[in-house]
Amino acid sequence: MKTKQLILCSLFLGFAIIFSGCSEKAQATQEALLEQKNQSQIQTFALDTIIDLKASGENAKDALQEAQKEIYRLENLLSVTKEKSEITALNKNAGIAPVSISEDTLFLLETAKKINIMTNNSFNIAISPVVELWGFRGIAYHVPTSEEITDKLALTKESDFVINPQEKTAFLNHPGMGVDLGGIAKGYISDKITELMKEKGISSAIISLGGNISAIGYRSNGEKWRVAVQDPLNQESFVGKLSISDVSVITSGGYQRYFEEDGKTYHHIIDPKTGYPADSGLLSVTIISENGTKADGLSTALFVLGLEDAVALWKESDDFEVIFVTDKKEVLATEGIAEDFIFQGEEEGYQYSIISK
Ligand code: AMP
Ligand code: MG
Repeated sequence: MKTKQLILCSLFLGFAIIFSGCSEKAQATQEALLEQKNQSQIQTFALDTIIDLKASGENAKDALQEAQKEIYRLENLLSVTKEKSEITALNKNAGIAPVSISEDTLFLLETAKKINIMTNNSFNIAISPVVELWGFRGIAYHVPTSEEITDKLALTKESDFVINPQEKTAFLNHPGMGVDLGGIAKGYISDKITELMKEKGISSAIISLGGNISAIGYRSNGEKWRVAVQDPLNQESFVGKLSISDVSVITSGGYQRYFEEDGKTYHHIIDPKTGYPADSGLLSVTIISENGTKADGLSTALFVLGLEDAVALWKESDDFEVIFVTDKKEVLATEGIAEDFIFQGEEEGYQYSIISK
């Protein structure tokens, strides 16, 4: 069985164990085994996805429980759908009044703005009204008319989204505007829980927020953690494996959320310049970086930018590496990660190359 399937099986087995009363014994046995090895694991559902946290060390169980609480705390602040989140308050007050925001929200809004500038508006959290129009949140999926898109695009100007760091407030200038942190929040949350676990003395852990991975240190056998990079055209398979430690690995791809209408596929990553799903020739972008927040924002942005502009941005930077999968069946790895990437896409017809600076 391939690694990804194994991971999924153990994940779902984990869920079956947690949620079925008749398997309490099995759960107790599994926990006892993990504890013997000073290892602990928590699987739960949050951030609209499956969360899987594993750590080893004396404090592992406590650290994971704290991490789980932190995930819920941040979800309650940053979610665009939770009634009481700061983002909901910001969106509800669009065109009305500035709202007070916490340090977490302030940091994330400011980082999102920096990534917006750095990527020439390919990453834009104010794209929310357009995301909603396509039905990727709330109402049913729907292909909008070009008039509808033009109307909503007028509400996505970054300059109309104002942050006041002194006052710790944010404001959306016009009614109907909205922000959505879906393209960056998971990366930030993984950074926060990585920090928290390290403070609790954890030196070996793996965090998966819906397949967005952050690794702390090495596995208990001293080897690097292994992460599979999915084949966007066949999710039962993968194009290669990464060996990592102390980085986040975050993938964006049209295959992760989409719908079909009249034989055409429409995915959830919107090009802020057109209001349509990005059509850049990329099938997926995987970013590897010590900075999970940036990795998440950039995975979305580089997917929109397309290979040429994305590579140009990588050449100017020194804090992230990339694995691209293109619709020409190419897999390309930037040189800083190539040594830790084993290409395995030949059977599926992919060609592999390394991109140099
Ligand atoms: P990710 O899976 O990190 O690439 O994020 C995709 C999510 O970010 C979508 O489901 C939307 O909620 C939001 N989004 C879509 N397009 C953009 C964009 N161009 N910039 C920022 N966020 C976006
Ligand atoms: Mg992202």
